[in-house]
Amino acid sequence: MMRKKIVAANWKMNMTQAESAEFVRSLLLDLADIRDVEVVIVPPFTAIAKVTEALGTEQDIKIGAQNMHWEKNGAFTGEISAALLRDLFVRYVVLGHSERRTLFGETDEIVNRKVRAAHEATLRPIVCIGETLEQRDKGKVEKVLSKQLHGSLAEVSAKELQETVIAYEPIWAIGTGRNATPEQAQEAHAFIRKTLAEISDETTAERMRIQYGGSVKPANARELMSQADIDGALVGGASLEARSFAEIVKAARPAD
Ligand code: PEP
Repeated sequence: MMRKKIVAANWKMNMTQAESAEFVRSLLLDLADIRDVEVVIVPPFTAIAKVTEALGTEQDIKIGAQNMHWEKNGAFTGEISAALLRDLFVRYVVLGHSERRTLFGETDEIVNRKVRAAHEATLRPIVCIGETLEQRDKGKVEKVLSKQLHGSLAEVSAKELQETVIAYEPIWAIGTGRNATPEQAQEAHAFIRKTLAEISDETTAERMRIQYGGSVKPANARELMSQADIDGALVGGASLEARSFAEIVKAARPAD
């Protein structure tokens, strides 16, 4: 099964409007005409409109958001809904990032509500899962991933799952400079795909894309993304600089 690789830039709480526009200008120079990799930029809410404007209408690069609320609208001060994101031409939304889970108390149940609300609004979720170092050391990786997948993807149809991206992000590798080895990552990704087949069916699991995230850089991107079940990358730190993000995107291209 040929799955189109998907590489996303998670800017977290960084990048002003001016910096975002400059990033896009520089990225477009570097990535002219790359159509064999799906590229997603995930700015802070405040820079989404600027990134859309800088991309213009011709570009194939998609916009993502870093979070959303599950309700459609109403009295939720400080929150943002799927419909408001769609209004800004957002196509993807990152859900259940470990920073949201750890710092803002997001549970699998909350992530699941958001995943279902995103699909209802035809936004594609990028659902993040991953274990802590302590859980890995105790041999609990599969148990943790299985629980997160079952919880976050409950009552999501096979059709919706095929429009869902999973991001495997071992927490010990995020922002630490310490990435999983390609073998460790592939082992986890193969387990995730097997679990997705149990949750849904083999065909759906084969079609779903599973990104790796955690200290991806130009130097390690190609080896990670050449693993059989690694279908792209969710990039934090190295996505703040257009040149290094472009290198990671190029590393995802299929070999000639
Ligand atoms: C992330 O936050 O999704 C991430 C993978 O960060 P970094 O690339 O900086 O480890």
